[in-house]
Amino acid sequence: MKIRLAAELQPDSIVDGAGIRTVIWTQGCPHHCKGCHNPSTHDFQSGMLVDVEEVKKQIQQIRYQDGITFSGGDPLCQPEACLEIAKYVKELNMDVWCYTGYTFEQLMIMAHKNNSILEFLKYVDVLIDGKFILEEKSLDVAFRGSKNQRMIDVSKSLKTNQVKVIKKYEKKEQNTLVHEKYLFI
Ligand code: SF4
Repeated sequence: MKIRLAAELQPDSIVDGAGIRTVIWTQGCPHHCKGCHNPSTHDFQSGMLVDVEEVKKQIQQIRYQDGITFSGGDPLCQPEACLEIAKYVKELNMDVWCYTGYTFEQLMIMAHKNNSILEFLKYVDVLIDGKFILEEKSLDVAFRGSKNQRMIDVSKSLKTNQVKVIKKYEKKEQNTLVHEKYLFI
């Protein structure tokens, strides 16, 4: 299986999640957010196709990392390949964070047609969801570009069928966010 990447793996990031992380920059994004910092990652035909086994090998060789962060691009456009990589990351006892332009609720609906989405999310510890909205851009929100984006505890959210944001990353005024319930069918 292959994954389309925008760049080489980027170890030692301290801005793409908690701790020291290796970022996997996926290629291809359908969201076209105004003010996106990575417009070169939008094209689904660009970047490079890399064998998932090669990505796993590279991850195995990188030392002193707390986890892996899937970014892009939108990793949820390649859930099958991301699933295989995420499974391996867990075998190495590292955590998995993932950025997506889809909301959690949208992903749950999409998962009805493609179960790999749900399977991948089961290996994701923290999901940062939603498009980047330029009008809501903020430097005060941890690890995110705009205030609408949520840092979601995926495991708890899947268990309870309700989006659970991770409070320690939220500003006080954001703790009052109301999260819609969604249904599994
Ligand atoms: S989801 Fe991310 S990569 Fe895609 S357009 Fe929005 S900000 Fe850019």
